[in-house]
Amino acid sequence: MRLPHTLNPQRLQGRMVGLFLGLLLLVQLASMGLVAQSLEREAERRLLRNLGTAQALLRSELTRRLGEELTKSQLLTADYGFRQTLGVRLFGDGPEAVRYALDQHARRVGAELAAFEANDGQLYASSPLAAEAVAAAKAMPAEAAQVGELRLALIQGRPMQLTRQAVMAPGLLGELVFGFELDSDLLEQIKTLFNVDVVLGVRGGAGGAWSQALHVEAPADLPQLLAELQRVMQAKPSAPDALRLRWRDQEQLARLIDLPAQGGEAGQHVSALLFSSLTEEVRPSSQLRQSLLLLNVLGLVVFALGSVFTARRLADPIQALRAAALRLGRGDYETQVRSQTRLIEVKALAQSFETMRLGIREHERQVQRLAYWDALTGLPNRQQFLQRLAQRLAASREPLALLMLNLDRFKPVNDALGRELGDELLKKVALRLQAFLGEAKPGGNVLARLGGDEFALWLDGFDEAKALQTAQLVLTDFEHPLQLGEQTVDLGAGIGIALFPGHAADADDLISLAERAMELAKRRQAGVLLFEPSMDARSPASLGLLSELRQAVEHDHLRLFLQPKLDLKTRRVLAAEALVRWQHPQRGMVPPGQFIPFAEQTGFVRQLTGWVLQAAARCAAQAQQQGLSLRISVNLSTRDLLDAELPSKLQSLLAREACTADALCLEITESAIMDDPARALQTVRALHAAGFKLSIDDFGTGYSSLAYLKQLPVQELKIDQSFVFGMADDAGDRQIVRSTIDLAHNLGLSVVAEGIETEAALELLASLGCDEGQGYFIAKPMPAEALLDWLRARQ
Ligand code: C2E
Ligand code: MG
Ligand code: MG
Repeated sequence: MRLPHTLNPQRLQGRMVGLFLGLLLLVQLASMGLVAQSLEREAERRLLRNLGTAQALLRSELTRRLGEELTKSQLLTADYGFRQTLGVRLFGDGPEAVRYALDQHARRVGAELAAFEANDGQLYASSPLAAEAVAAAKAMPAEAAQVGELRLALIQGRPMQLTRQAVMAPGLLGELVFGFELDSDLLEQIKTLFNVDVVLGVRGGAGGAWSQALHVEAPADLPQLLAELQRVMQAKPSAPDALRLRWRDQEQLARLIDLPAQGGEAGQHVSALLFSSLTEEVRPSSQLRQSLLLLNVLGLVVFALGSVFTARRLADPIQALRAAALRLGRGDYETQVRSQTRLIEVKALAQSFETMRLGIREHERQVQRLAYWDALTGLPNRQQFLQRLAQRLAASREPLALLMLNLDRFKPVNDALGRELGDELLKKVALRLQAFLGEAKPGGNVLARLGGDEFALWLDGFDEAKALQTAQLVLTDFEHPLQLGEQTVDLGAGIGIALFPGHAADADDLISLAERAMELAKRRQAGVLLFEPSMDARSPASLGLLSELRQAVEHDHLRLFLQPKLDLKTRRVLAAEALVRWQHPQRGMVPPGQFIPFAEQTGFVRQLTGWVLQAAARCAAQAQQQGLSLRISVNLSTRDLLDAELPSKLQSLLAREACTADALCLEITESAIMDDPARALQTVRALHAAGFKLSIDDFGTGYSSLAYLKQLPVQELKIDQSFVFGMADDAGDRQIVRSTIDLAHNLGLSVVAEGIETEAALELLASLGCDEGQGYFIAKPMPAEALLDWLRARQ
């Protein structure tokens, strides 16, 4: 069962309300207890006072009455007529007449009995009790009959006040005794005045019980009271002043007094029990207590309402803050944290929450920025680009072109200029590329920096022709060098293009295909390349190509072509370069440019290189046998250089083909080494140690530094054909060729120039001191057998 918050002790509201009410209740109970107690005490004191006053009144009244009775009897005994009557009757009329007169007089003075003891000891009495009364009166000390002393006598167990007077006429006639029985008038008076009941009675004698009790109107249950009194007296005989008796289901406060008395049995007393109901006395204050209780209950209710209200005022804003914290937990940082409360602490807490919210929101935005934006250029990053592209491709089949661009030589530029200028360069490139974004489209035309020096440009609605055109424009724009502070930097880039929906249907694939095309564009220095399925090692077309290549090796469809290298000083041909061709059953002779990059990508190039090396070794051995001196250069690719077993494989090959190491030269490109310089260098050193001649191919197109070149154990440097082609017309190219020749010579290397197509070029190179030349002008690559014939013919 769910408790309301104000009743649930686990809740702040419940706890506060419970605590407040509990404390209040405690205080109320204590104060009510105290009030009740003091009211009872007060009533008790009042009662005791009443009892005391009643007791005093009883005593003084008895004494006063005795005085009155004495006066009456004195007056009577002094009365002449009475004495006359008594004397006459005594001596004349006889005892009956005396008794009659006594009776008359007793009635006149209001006495219960009258007795006269004549001088001769003869007793005349108005009632049979007289003898006892006279005896009792005689037993009293003479002065006790005086006013001021209360004297009672028990006559037949009835309490009476006695007077005793000598009757003189004028000689002593005898003594007259009157007995006044105590009546209930006095008791009634006391009851009216003080609300105190008085029971007069004779106590003691056999068993100490009461007898002959006198009361206003002796109630029937009086014996119970007296029995209770006896019980209490037995338990506590010492304190008769303040007795507590239980009677008629009420608490009675009582006081027991003994009145001096004469006569009766031995040990008997005349006692007065004064009592009054404490319960009744307290009763009037119960009204007050009820009012007090009502007031307390009212107070409790008001207090309860007040504490619920206060607890709410405190708990509600805290509840609101909790809701705010939950919102923050769910990642809602936009809803403001507000608090309506006027409580300073809670308000401060709410403000802290709000500050926290703003902080987290800012932090979140920063994280978003970092996650989706490139901090350097302010362009979208790979993550954002990928997401947006994915959304776009999912939303519409409209065509788009993805241009992937990677800068040339960024790493050396960055190394040489320093990071700061490197960053500056990237920012400027980003600015230049932004110009090609064209008009902004809702979903597209996005330029992003995917990382390092790689940029992606997505052009919405572009087909192949428009994409190629834009890529060319970018490259043309890059022909203008960049100004970085004092430095002028030549820009260059490779661009790969992939098209949607033609090449790929999803964003990841489209990006990776464009990247593939870009890698090839860079490797082939083609500037721009549009993706084609053969570039993709995973594509069905490529898989087909791979199995075809395997078959080519197995079924001997590869052909070893050799292109002679001419010694420019002696004009003799002592070397040739091995260039593989694929004699395809359908496609005819396929040039290496169409399958070598693919073979490199798939790793199949190792088998290919193995085939070429074997063919070259065999050919070299054959030439040797024919007395021809021919060293054959074989091209190694990156994968070959990463193959740690290559040196040992070569050794066993040499042994198999009966060929020597110096009959082979191994050509490596700078880029092949740069992929994993440490491992490549290890292989190169091992090959050198094994006695193979080593050559750097396509020199001038890579990024290698001179420092690097120095470390390589090579003997030959091949100037890239692009410089040789332009040499005739371009002074710059000419200069590069000349410097390269000088540089190589200074490093102790021989120089080979590739791509000699004219005699002029050949002569120029010879005049520049170039050691060897290779090119169509000398001879095009030809089948190995044909070369041997060609050599023999030349000789
Ligand atoms: P490369 O090693 O720089 O080879 C020289 C390329 O220039 C050859 O193209 C050759 O036919 C061509 N060439 C030579 N003289 C001239 C000339 O005067 N004018 C013009 N325009 N071209 C000339 P090829 O045979 O198509 O080979 C292209 C590239 O393929 C080679 O460049 C080499 O990197 C690679 N390659 C060829 N065969 C193999 C091989 O067996 N293994 C490896 N890994 N790569 C090879
Ligand atoms: Mg080569
Ligand atoms: Mg070359």
